[in-house]
Amino acid sequence: MNAGAYGSDWSDILERALVVSEAGSGWLTPAELGLSYRHSELAPGQVVARVEFRLEPRPVEQIKADVAELVARRKATQPTNKRTFGSVFKNPPGELGAGQVLERCGLKGHRIGGAVVSPRHANFIENADGATSADCLALMAEARRRAREQFGVELEHEVVLWGLAP
Ligand SMILES: Cc1cc2nc3c(=O)[nH]c(=O)nc-3n(C[C@H](O)[C@H](O)[C@H](O)COP(=O)(O)OP(=O)(O)OC[C@H]3O[C@@H](n4cnc5c(N)ncnc54)[C@H](O)[C@@H]3O)c2cc1C
Repeated sequence: MNAGAYGSDWSDILERALVVSEAGSGWLTPAELGLSYRHSELAPGQVVARVEFRLEPRPVEQIKADVAELVARRKATQPTNKRTFGSVFKNPPGELGAGQVLERCGLKGHRIGGAVVSPRHANFIENADGATSADCLALMAEARRRAREQFGVELEHEVVLWGLAP
């Protein structure tokens, strides 16, 4: 899913990936993998077996400092100490991120059953107390409805739903 954060993702440093399937195996470039924002064209049954990255050597202390800064930024803005399943929705086109749209819809702290829209970052759902998948799905449906009605924004799931209708 071409994970990324803070302005870059794996496609920026991926040189090529060895993809194996029933049909055989072959090295694919990021363009051939169809990598874009939180997306790849990998089909079910295609497995990434090896990857080669294009990395730039830098002083270890500099790398450690950069990582520490990003971790601190994440801790300050996201509920990293709560039980969540990561970013719920992809950022929509436009200036506002999914979290900002949902915050402006007044959803921070909104609760259904045991699932709560994180008071720290509205694009996360926290398991506050025995949340079920049904609680989370109901909260996600409510968030999509409000974003559509209040901002005309159609939010797309970043999380993958297994065996459940979106
Ligand atoms: C708290 C939290 C924070 C997160 N923050 C971010 C973030 O900042 N940015 C971001 O981009 N994402 C973020 N995510 C999402 C995260 O990147 C995805 O959950 C990611 O897919 C996890 O990879 P995994 O290998 O652990 O999961 P898995 O469940 O093992 O794999 C995820 C999917 O990839 C497939 N897969 C796994 N291995 C292979 C393989 N070798 N070849 C082909 N397919 C394979 C699996 O079948 C599955 O469909 C966050 C998630 C959480 C829970």
